Amino acid sequence: MPTYEFRCRECGTTFDVKRPMSAAGDPAACPTGHEDTVKLLTMAGLSGSAAAPAGGGGGGCCGGGCCG
Ligand SMILES: [Zn+2]
Repeated sequence: MPTYEFRCRECGTTFDVKRPMSAAGDPAACPTGHEDTVKLLTMAGLSGSAAAPAGGGGGGCCGGGCCG
């Protein structure tokens, strides 16, 4: 089951929610109880791997061209 990351716009907390993809767009309340949250785009949205290193398993910056 994929994990989705949300951020609360009231207190700024980020938190993870595990849910099936069919429920990906459902609202999620922050752990403190606020309901004004937004879903962040994390690994759940990455189906093509344009920006992902192809299997090093490391931190992944150097080699991708972003370190100069
Ligand atoms: Zn909150």
